[in-house]
Amino acid sequence: MVLTRENFEQKIHAIILDRGKEYLLRDMVGNLEQTTDGWKATVKSESSGAYQVRLFGKETFEDWDCTCPFDHGPVCKHIAAVLYAIQQIDVYEKEEIAMTNEHIEQLDNAGKIEVLQDAIVQLPELRQFILKRYYRSIPEEKEGNS
Ligand SMILES: [Zn+2]
Repeated sequence: MVLTRENFEQKIHAIILDRGKEYLLRDMVGNLEQTTDGWKATVKSESSGAYQVRLFGKETFEDWDCTCPFDHGPVCKHIAAVLYAIQQIDVYEKEEIAMTNEHIEQLDNAGKIEVLQDAIVQLPELRQFILKRYYRSIPEEKEGNS
């Protein structure tokens, strides 16, 4: 089975999904972070302690593991909880982009330029991006065009 951020809700059993979602809502997923080969997180156990969950892959997950004793299917509720947590990050990111766009749209041109100039100073990556992507496309002044 291959899971992606988009398809996991179709691939995993509904009961497991419900429990996973419940775990996320109850704030039982912690320490979610991207690793060089995927994602890792800890999910609190119902009784005590926590399980370590790992998913291998960035967008597509072909392998995963959880330290819990579940062996009734390919995916346990802790894995489902972490998949929901990853999905939530995507949602937050999209909301953040939408909010930023909305804010920029409300600025006048001078305000937009100010934001951009500030960002260029703060973010060397953005500077490089703009130079690489747009510098060559600035039209050169035409000579003797009258
Ligand atoms: Zn588990």
